[in-house]
Formats: sequence, structure tokens, C-alpha cells
Amino acid sequence: MELWDDISKKVGDAANAVGRGAEKLTDMAKLKYTLTVRQGKLEKIFESIGRLRYDEIVNSADNTEVVSELISDAESVKAEIAELRERLDERTGSAHCAKCGAKIPRGAAFCPSCGEKQQTEE
Ligand SMILES: [Zn+2]
Repeated sequence: MELWDDISKKVGDAANAVGRGAEKLTDMAKLKYTLTVRQGKLEKIFESIGRLRYDEIVNSADNTEVVSELISDAESVKAEIAELRERLDERTGSAHCAKCGAKIPRGAAFCPSCGEKQQTEE
């Protein structure tokens, strides 16, 4: 009986470990999905701004108000994207260059891609 108890405990521990791994992965997948959705939203906003500006140039329309609303939307979506990236980076132990957006090792002093000096956490 002692052996069986030991085996079932080990199986239980392994199942729990798998469960925790899956939880972590699901969380990562959710973050990545949300990031993709936000990036798509940002592209849509940029596209709309482009169309409105085109309309202004070609048809002499005044879309100033709508464009500035869209720009503030874009700014908040960009902030959400930056936050999601930061959360993903924390989980993967990586970072992104503030200038070019390249994936870089966490704590790197300079971006290996563009050479930009990075803000390193103390
Ligand atoms: Zn860079």
C-alpha cells in the first residue's frame, strides 16, 4: 500500500505540474492573441486616418475632428500594445528595443539591431 500511495502521489504531482504548465501557456496564448487583436485594431485606425486624409486632399473635406479622435484612439491602443508586450516580455525573459521594436535580451545595454542605448532596470 505504501508503494501505491507513493506512485499515486507522484502521478498527482506530475498531473499538477502539467496543469500549471498548461495554465501558463494558456495565459501566454491569451496575451499573444490580445496583442494580435490590438495590432489589427491599430492598423485599422491607421487605415481610416489615411482614407480620411485622402478624402481631405482629393475632395477638400474637413475631417479634422474625426482624425484627431482616431489619433487619440491610436494612442490608447498603442499604450495597450506596449503594456501587453511588456507582460509577454516578463514571461519570456526578453525585452524589445524602444526605438526599433526588435526583440532583445532582457537587460541588454544596447539594441543589437539598431544600436540604440536601452533603459536598463536597476
Ligand atoms: Zn533597436
